[in-house]
Amino acid sequence: MVPDATLQSFSGWVRAGTRLMSGGEFVSTIKLRGNVLGTRSHEARGRPERLVLCRHGCQRPETPGHIQQSCPVTHGWRVQRHDKIVTTVCKHLGDRGWEVLREPNIPTPNGLRKPDIVLWNSVQSFVIDVQVCADMRVATPNDAHKRKRDYYNTPIIRQWVNEQSGKPPVISSIVMNWQCAWAQASYNTFKALGGTDEVSKLITVRMLEDSVRMYRMFCGAGALRNVH
Ligand SMILES: [Zn+2]
Repeated sequence: MVPDATLQSFSGWVRAGTRLMSGGEFVSTIKLRGNVLGTRSHEARGRPERLVLCRHGCQRPETPGHIQQSCPVTHGWRVQRHDKIVTTVCKHLGDRGWEVLREPNIPTPNGLRKPDIVLWNSVQSFVIDVQVCADMRVATPNDAHKRKRDYYNTPIIRQWVNEQSGKPPVISSIVMNWQCAWAQASYNTFKALGGTDEVSKLITVRMLEDSVRMYRMFCGAGALRNVH
């Protein structure tokens, strides 16, 4: 994969090893990031007669993207992975003095909108939505960031946040993929909010661990030998 200079990548840091992760977890996350954890589609390359559809009955190819992003079987774990990031960000920034609203319901003519985090201090306000996005072959984190920003950047949402906080908001995101790359705008926003690199790395490592765990649970216990 060609490194994208417009992304904030923590992969070098993870590759260098970290006390935050055990050796076995480290190996699994390397495989995850390289898209080489065993999947039916991966095993079937060059052998079209092999079954490539999701083992849980989805009429979709069993790819890392399907397992991580869309299979109904992993939905609950995907929600947990996302919510843990939201929790960490809310706590970290709350400790830094931001007023934090988690998942406020914002009424709009198109129905309720529920960004993950609305926060403000005496100077600025922000709307932040969190996403773990697909690997680079589908879209980059920068693309996913733009979609999030466009979705929430509406006059009604801006007005609602302005009424709560007294300031027009910056609409941004915390978007990363499971190859450890954050959207550059997400990283810049997190830093502007006072987020530390230590916490960005912690969030990234926990996201990787959760992604590997999701893969293991998807495959069932019998697949553990494919992971290590
Ligand atoms: Zn499936």
